[in-house]
Amino acid sequence: MTKCLIIGSGIVGLSTANQLIKNNFQITIVDAEKKGQASRSAAGLLFPLNPWTNTEYLQNLCMSGHADYMNFFDNLILEDKKKLNFYQKDLIIFGKNLQKAKKWYENKTFVESNFFNGLVNELEKNIKDEYKNYLVIKNINIIDPRSLIDFYKIKLKKCNVIFKKENIENLSNLLKEPKYKIYDYIIITTGAWSNDLIKNEKIKVKPIKGQLLNFKSSKKILNNILLFDDYYIIPRDKNNITIGSTIEDVGFDSELTLSAYTYLKNSLSKLFSNEIQLQNIQQTFGFRPFSYDNKPYINFDKKDKRIIYNFGHYRYGILTAISSAKIVNDLIT
Ligand SMILES: Cc1cc2nc3c(=O)[nH]c(=O)nc-3n(C[C@H](O)[C@H](O)[C@H](O)COP(=O)(O)OP(=O)(O)OC[C@H]3O[C@@H](n4cnc5c(N)ncnc54)[C@H](O)[C@@H]3O)c2cc1C
Repeated sequence: MTKCLIIGSGIVGLSTANQLIKNNFQITIVDAEKKGQASRSAAGLLFPLNPWTNTEYLQNLCMSGHADYMNFFDNLILEDKKKLNFYQKDLIIFGKNLQKAKKWYENKTFVESNFFNGLVNELEKNIKDEYKNYLVIKNINIIDPRSLIDFYKIKLKKCNVIFKKENIENLSNLLKEPKYKIYDYIIITTGAWSNDLIKNEKIKVKPIKGQLLNFKSSKKILNNILLFDDYYIIPRDKNNITIGSTIEDVGFDSELTLSAYTYLKNSLSKLFSNEIQLQNIQQTFGFRPFSYDNKPYINFDKKDKRIIYNFGHYRYGILTAISSAKIVNDLIT
């Protein structure tokens, strides 16, 4: 039986395991439980934000990610669908990126998009009057990433996947240790921390911190996801909304900052009319795995075919996790 060690139990590691168990692989997942795991702090949009800024490789991965999640949800039983807190909303794009978005979506058939020349108030009554000219993308998928992680963990444990808390300091040392010689493949899914582990100068990933705010309102104030140049707002259940997210090149600094709070809160105040009262309920952060090549590394290590990389998904790791897992699966089966 093929034995795999997966290092990192964020969404990429879990999705990879979920794919590989279909081949009856024996899987062990180790995780150091680092502070700031990206997957638990993600907003959960299963859709690319500004796809035209991405490499073609990443654009394709995002589009297949969209299709993969549709299949994934179609095959779930109703009870699991509810547990995963999966829902669909339309996405409204405003601002400087509008023309680029309009052009990019024009030839795309995987979603329906419509441009509107006028005020948005018909769709969003609580927004101030000046917001006009927008693109609507129909039926965007959203999930609560924490529910997805919990769902995968329960499922994988039932399929005899072993989970261990362990910090792997150095990959080359690990390869020399007898207890790891039993593994046919070692799959690296350590997100923003991958450089620290693999120490390969040709592969460069760094953390880009993102902070999000969750607010509660006394009544429903938002129907759609809104995307502006520098932030997005997502309607949640029970009249909650999420606004995100900051893009901070500050290394592994794990402080929740007042500047992030003020920036995101002010963005909301500019948008909603003054009578809307919002109560802040949570501020969270995570480290996105930014790849200098603007695409994730999903491949064998050049020197050692026992090692497989699957990291560097930056802002799209939830969306592209299933597609990336399928690539890993194709590499080793
Ligand atoms: C604020 C924010 C909002 C986001 N919103 C979205 C969104 O809406 N849609 C979307 O698709 N993406 C979104 N992202 C991006 C997405 O979260 C990431 O791309 C994705 O979570 C990366 O997953 P991962 O499994 O590679 O990394 P992680 O989730 O960070 O997991 C890596 C794991 O590896 C472990 N690890 C690291 N080093 C070691 C080691 N040496 N030994 C053992 N274990 C180790 C860590 O403990 C961690 O658990 C968002 C990110 C942030 C921060």
